Amino acid sequence: MVKNQILIVDDSEINREMLRLILEDEYDIVEAGNGKEAIEIIEKGDHVFRLVLLDLVMPVMSGYEALQEFKNRGWHHNLPVIIISGDSTDEALSKAYDLGAADFFAKPYNPQIVLRRVTNVISSREYAYRDLLTGAYNRLGFLQMANNFLQKCEDRTKFAIMFFDLKNFKAINSLLGTEGGDAVLRQTFNGMVHAELEPIFISRFEADHFVCLVEKRKIDVAKLIQESNQTLEWNGHSMQFRFRTGICHIDNDSDVINFVDRAKLSLNYIDDEYLKPYAIFDDNMAQNYINAAAVTSEFETSMANEEFKVYYQPVMETATGKIASAEALIRWIHPERGFVRPDLFIPALEKDGFISKLDLFVDKKVNQVMQLWKEQGLVTVPVSINLSWMDFYDQDMIQNILDNVAQRITTPGSVRYEITESSFAALKENRGDVLKALREQGAWLLMDDFGSGYSSLGMLMNYKFDILKIDMSFVRQLEKNPDVKHIIKMIIDMCHLLGMKVVAEGAETETQVNILREDACDYIQGYYFSKPLPEEEFKQFLAKCKEEGKI
Ligand code: C2E
Ligand code: MG
Ligand code: MG
Repeated sequence: MVKNQILIVDDSEINREMLRLILEDEYDIVEAGNGKEAIEIIEKGDHVFRLVLLDLVMPVMSGYEALQEFKNRGWHHNLPVIIISGDSTDEALSKAYDLGAADFFAKPYNPQIVLRRVTNVISSREYAYRDLLTGAYNRLGFLQMANNFLQKCEDRTKFAIMFFDLKNFKAINSLLGTEGGDAVLRQTFNGMVHAELEPIFISRFEADHFVCLVEKRKIDVAKLIQESNQTLEWNGHSMQFRFRTGICHIDNDSDVINFVDRAKLSLNYIDDEYLKPYAIFDDNMAQNYINAAAVTSEFETSMANEEFKVYYQPVMETATGKIASAEALIRWIHPERGFVRPDLFIPALEKDGFISKLDLFVDKKVNQVMQLWKEQGLVTVPVSINLSWMDFYDQDMIQNILDNVAQRITTPGSVRYEITESSFAALKENRGDVLKALREQGAWLLMDDFGSGYSSLGMLMNYKFDILKIDMSFVRQLEKNPDVKHIIKMIIDMCHLLGMKVVAEGAETETQVNILREDACDYIQGYYFSKPLPEEEFKQFLAKCKEEGKI
């Protein structure tokens, strides 16, 4: 158990010693001889103090001056102060209270009362560091405690950060209501408190994400796999839920937030969350790691320097092997980092709102290139553009897309947009009508990554799509799991009933292609036919298709 830290500021050594004796069983005590020393200690940042006990009359810097300095630095919000002066005139006290003091102890000290009041003042301020629902640390509290703890460790490489991501939390919330969701969060927290893992600090870091600081030697992956499946017994309901875990070993002395970011990032590398629901951040991921702040700060320059390139991945007709269309996929060719994968920078751009600029760039670029090729008498195919959920929160972006479609459309489907279910919320909240407007103008809509989340069917019920793209994770399992073949077949039949065509994404082997053909899947996009190609190579690919009569 890590103790909370208290700073005692008094010029009288005997006084400090007395208070220390009363408090040191429960708290970690640091001492200062005057206000100036106190400020230096706090500013140094080696400690996270939960309380300051402050004498008023001291040499060098008095308690009043110290209180004023605390206020100037904004510390008074989070750092409560109890006055411990012998000078207890009403005037002295009211001056101290005016300066933000929280309480006052009169001498002689009654140990029981001192301990109680210290505990009361500290716990009344805990909300700033705690998540009220579970009692775990919140983000602020966790980062402070973990940073402070590691600073004092002789060997911080003995530790690791674990990032737990609850799966389907939104689904649980909508099935059981917020109270059921809360019960899941509480159960998760209680499970961690009692786990053999014995985390040093546990936090509910954000919504359904828990972060722990743990000792590396306590991590037992076999246990982790076992415990990633949980059952909630709540109000007569029994419900399964799961979590995935990203792990990052602490290997240098940078701020804890960096390790939390990396642990979170490693979640993206979990391939099969049933077999191996965890990932450990490694060198390969480190090479790809690029923090969100760097993406944001470099974005505009990189755009200006034309570091973003559009690649094209062919989509083939299954029955004939002819090229049917292509998908535009963005690539960042960074002067130092080299090739940066989109899933490493797109989430950052979605957070800061830049993604719409990028999507509009792709939209314009693709149109320009196809226009040019047509003018040169070359063959082209319709190219679909990916839209981010963020785009639907941006009125200018929506207007731009609508205007572009109006200008460019030649035949139905000559302009195409891919949308994932992550746009569902934005569409419902904002402009649900925009999809309809796009289709009315003749643009085709593709439901992307179908089956990867829980509201894929919700999207289909609420909006009309022309083409459905089956998520790569299904095709991945096609050879291993015979049920998946039936699921894919069912999706295809459903789409055909609804008047939609189907693209299967991510086919890499001949076996996969053959099964998809048997199932009457209309189109296939995957490495088996071609990887995403840079502009020049795509041009050659099209030329070759023409030569071979495959267009
Ligand atoms: P997506 O739209 O589902 O794109 C398909 C992804 O599958 C692409 O990854 C593509 O390279 C990959 N892929 C296709 N066939 C295969 C295969 O056979 N095997 C494997 N292993 N992968 C295959 P990519 O290019 O890394 O893009 C990832 C995601 O980033 C895209 O998923 C899309 O959601 C997003 N994205 C890419 N470009 C843009 C863009 O311009 N705007 C927006 N908003 N998102 C984009
Ligand atoms: Mg796509
Ligand atoms: Mg997709």
